[in-house]
Amino acid sequence: MIYLDYAATSPALPEMFASQTLFTGGKTETEAARAKITRLLMGGGPAGACGTLSADPGEIIFTSGGTESDNLAVLGTFFQAKKAGRPCRILTGATEHEAVLESCKAAEAYGGMFGCDVKVQVLPVSEDGAVAPETVREALREIRAEAPLILVSLMYANNETGVLTDVEEIGRICREEDALFHTDAVQAVGHVPLDLRKLPVSMLSASAHKFGGPKGTGFLYLRKGVRLQPLFFGTVDGEADPSGIRPGTISDADAAGMAKALAYRTAHLSEESARIGRLRDLLEKGILEGIPGTHRNGRSLRLPGHLNISFDGVESSSLLFLLDMKGVCASGGSACAAQSRKRSHVLAAMGLPEDRINSAIRFSLGPETTDHEIAETLRIVRETVSELRMLRG
Ligand code: PLP
Repeated sequence: MIYLDYAATSPALPEMFASQTLFTGGKTETEAARAKITRLLMGGGPAGACGTLSADPGEIIFTSGGTESDNLAVLGTFFQAKKAGRPCRILTGATEHEAVLESCKAAEAYGGMFGCDVKVQVLPVSEDGAVAPETVREALREIRAEAPLILVSLMYANNETGVLTDVEEIGRICREEDALFHTDAVQAVGHVPLDLRKLPVSMLSASAHKFGGPKGTGFLYLRKGVRLQPLFFGTVDGEADPSGIRPGTISDADAAGMAKALAYRTAHLSEESARIGRLRDLLEKGILEGIPGTHRNGRSLRLPGHLNISFDGVESSSLLFLLDMKGVCASGGSACAAQSRKRSHVLAAMGLPEDRINSAIRFSLGPETTDHEIAETLRIVRETVSELRMLRG
């Protein structure tokens, strides 16, 4: 099987298993994992480097994964505004993951239930797949007069196209306009260099299974001074929750495994990105130049492993089914999982025509992808697309 669906989930790294199985457990291990992740996100300096950071390291809140982290950022801000008796305005993007879009809808629904002034604005993306910084600035200026608590939530990298958002520029604009900035970095953490000392974000969501760590664990990074209300209530190991934001006993083994996987990925990031990017470019060139009627979806400023391609006259579900039969595992345009048949809201928001949306496939490469696999994939894709086109006549 040629696995090209790393964006859905990345097989667990053997290094991570070592830390999980040899695990002796305990709170100190969880705290060591928290410190390690903080350090890795702050430019990845050597042990103890946190003490010398120019910016405050902020806080890592362990969660059950990316979905919970996104919910906590959006709804935690909504409840904070409610507590402070302030109107709440949330700006998000049309190509965000459901974890953010549905949280925004929930904030509006809770607003209605509790009689709070909350409004969500979904910002458009251009055909290249990204929200332009100027669009954010204009939207913020329009709502400034209402003096609300503002949250801007825009993803670091899109899960379907890999398109990168200009988070640096948007973060700067948010700071100037006094808005909180949350970025769903589930596809980016462990895949692009991150230094939160410099990146102007208030909150950042991550999920371990996207970078070779255990499933069902992730975190929300919270910059110092950012206040959220909790969504869960209780204690941590029977004691008061020190964060005040996310009670519940953490799996020490998962926290340690996640830290180990992130450390491994960070240590190999530059050579792996270059290797994966080269293979992705080979696949892209081979398809676009070797198969007529093919189109790349999303701009070139993307994650190194993502490739979203449409094939004229081919149903993506049929193509995926046949590729699977021939041993190539890719994913439908809309998917977190290869089985998903839902129409892509991402490609639709980019303004692509129906036939291009219905014929889109995502290939996502990872650490185990080889040159041979890409050559084989190209051969199989070429053969399968021409078979399907012949059947259509
Ligand atoms: N955000 C993005 C961009 C994702 O790609 C995903 C999962 O595919 C999530 C959030 C949800 O993460 P999790 O699977 O950890 O709940």
